[in-house]
Amino acid sequence: MRSKLVVVTGAGGFIGGSLVASLRQRGYSQIRAVDLKPLDHWYQKFDDVENLSLDLNEKENCEIVAKGASDIYNLAANMGGMGFIESHKALCMLSVLINTHMLMAARKYNVERYFYSSSACIYNGHLQHTSDDGDRFKAPALKEADAYPALSEDGYGWEKLFSERMCRHYMEDFGLYVRVARFHNVYGPWGTWFGGREKAPAAICRKVIEAKLTGKHEIEIWGTGHQSRSFMYIDDCIKGIELIMDSGIIEPINLGSSEAVSINQLVDIVEEIAGTNLKRNYVLDAPKGVNGRNSDNTLIREYLSWEPSIPLRTGLERTYAWIHEQYQLRERGAAGVVREIDFVKQ
Ligand code: NAD
Repeated sequence: MRSKLVVVTGAGGFIGGSLVASLRQRGYSQIRAVDLKPLDHWYQKFDDVENLSLDLNEKENCEIVAKGASDIYNLAANMGGMGFIESHKALCMLSVLINTHMLMAARKYNVERYFYSSSACIYNGHLQHTSDDGDRFKAPALKEADAYPALSEDGYGWEKLFSERMCRHYMEDFGLYVRVARFHNVYGPWGTWFGGREKAPAAICRKVIEAKLTGKHEIEIWGTGHQSRSFMYIDDCIKGIELIMDSGIIEPINLGSSEAVSINQLVDIVEEIAGTNLKRNYVLDAPKGVNGRNSDNTLIREYLSWEPSIPLRTGLERTYAWIHEQYQLRERGAAGVVREIDFVKQ
């Protein structure tokens, strides 16, 4: 049993919920899980944990949360896939309040260790405008130094970059122990899979399932399908968070898979898992993000002798099976569906 008090913010969401599950399995007996959403809308909720529904934009709430804590994992943010972040830039930038107030509270209550979840969206967009080679866009592997000179994803990416720097200065000026990871697209069970905030792997699984179950053998793909990305399975993400928190890595570091695929290839894999072949309709004016992006894992390999390695095919099989089950629960109007209901205040 580990007796220190560990706080996870954003615990009602995808990664935060999975982190709480993992901390419980690792023997932490005092966990404080916090999210803005009402408790009955958390994706995963554990009764042996202190669950708090609080708005962490508010400084007073951050102080309630930080008081007595030894470690804080700050995963709370207003976010979603490209469809969401391209159309909610101000809302994404307001997450700056969460990290600012959490850092202030962490300092006030002498928290021992603080983790901040940044994003690959902080990287300079110019490095990701690759040309279409007829098959797929090349996926440039972004190394940590590529963050500057800065030209982050408008809204969401700039907020993450600013918050990274605030973490750095809390470390330099106030001696706070801070670790920062730049997540590259995370996917897996217990994530958003419908409603507008879902990311590509979940959206494609859902669309393929829908096409199969309705007998309408077509799929809508945003963009040309040539845009490329890497996708990290949730188990690798959780392991990486824990390794980085325990490490001596004081600069922001990539936490992502380096297995790049085009969106078309992602659809190929999901179709193969589903045993189907669909007509593809490309929506060229839909939000599609940068052309190509991958994670350069040189630094994380050097520091940890480890990098995310769960193959995309393996992770997608598990994700597809989970979304399939969720889809059927939803169709039957049964309980237990991870619902995308927007409780995040505007
Ligand atoms: P998520 O949306 O499932 O979880 C975030 C949670 O934060 C939500 O449950 C939301 O209700 C909560 N939240 C938002 N505003 C809040 C507030 N004011 N007070 C308290 N809680 C609030 O997202 P996720 O995928 O689990 O992402 C977790 C973290 O990882 C976020 O910081 C996100 O920016 C970062 N990240 C995620 C990915 C990814 O691919 N999922 C990629 C890069 C970075």
